[in-house]
Amino acid sequence: GHTRCYVAPMTWGADRAAMLVFHDQTAKISTERLRADFLANASHELRTPLASLTLLIETIAGPARDSVEERDRFLAMMQVQAERMRRLIADLLSLSRIELDEHVPPSDRADLAGVAREIIDTAASVAEERGVRIELTAPAKPVTVVGERFQLAQVVQNLIDNAIKYTPRDGVVLVEVGAAGDREETVALAGRRWDEAGRVALLTPAAAANRSYAYVRVEDSGPGVARRFLPRLGERFFRVEREMGDEKGGTGLGLAIVKHIMNRHRGGLLVESQPGRGSAFAAYVESAEVD
Ligand code: ADP
Repeated sequence: GHTRCYVAPMTWGADRAAMLVFHDQTAKISTERLRADFLANASHELRTPLASLTLLIETIAGPARDSVEERDRFLAMMQVQAERMRRLIADLLSLSRIELDEHVPPSDRADLAGVAREIIDTAASVAEERGVRIELTAPAKPVTVVGERFQLAQVVQNLIDNAIKYTPRDGVVLVEVGAAGDREETVALAGRRWDEAGRVALLTPAAAANRSYAYVRVEDSGPGVARRFLPRLGERFFRVEREMGDEKGGTGLGLAIVKHIMNRHRGGLLVESQPGRGSAFAAYVESAEVD
């Protein structure tokens, strides 16, 4: 397999499920093929809102032309479709920008706790509108990692956006930032995967074994993701099939963006989910702190 699956001791009850996606190599199988599929999918995804827009324009110009109320109603629907296209294009641009320098590891330093605080501040109003509370647990001092602040902010933003989107009213989103060692078992696990995968090309194996990782973990109390879908999270345009009415209308690119950024950071992404109870996504980034 190209992604690895294991059940790890996490915070949830007896039938917990967890999945570790480290250094996914799927892209290497057939880049050409994937690129062709990607273009086909992207075109298809863009065509859907465009078809709606065309239909709505025809309706406004035709049957609905004499009713102000009808026109307003269809205009509002056009706005939704236009917004959908805008999001798609923004996500596609993000993805292609990230891909451009994905092979260049970041050399900057960033404070993961600061990033989380900043994103939570900007997400607070949306969360409040939806009746969702966001709680942050983070060390008082900076959690310095090797990474590009802007991209790490994108990671945290996408994870928190999803968590808010899927948490029901009066629910809580828990965000936890930890320095290396705070979450012994997973950090150790992350370290081991690294060695096995042997993909940290810029490091000697000894140095790789000594690396420690900081993490940001976002837990929600949403519907979770069925076990069979876990390996597919992060595939471009992949969306979990949900009951009618539970569709959140995302682009299916958010986690793909997260995965590419984490790949560039030689980082990891841990996904835990318990259907009916919630999900947690944890991103691991190399710590820049000397112990
Ligand atoms: P989208 O933009 O559609 O949210 P993502 O790549 O972020 O795309 O997510 C892909 C799929 O993963 C979504 O369709 C959603 O069903 C599922 N998913 C992501 N995050 C969560 C979460 N926190 N809880 C439940 N399902 C999630």
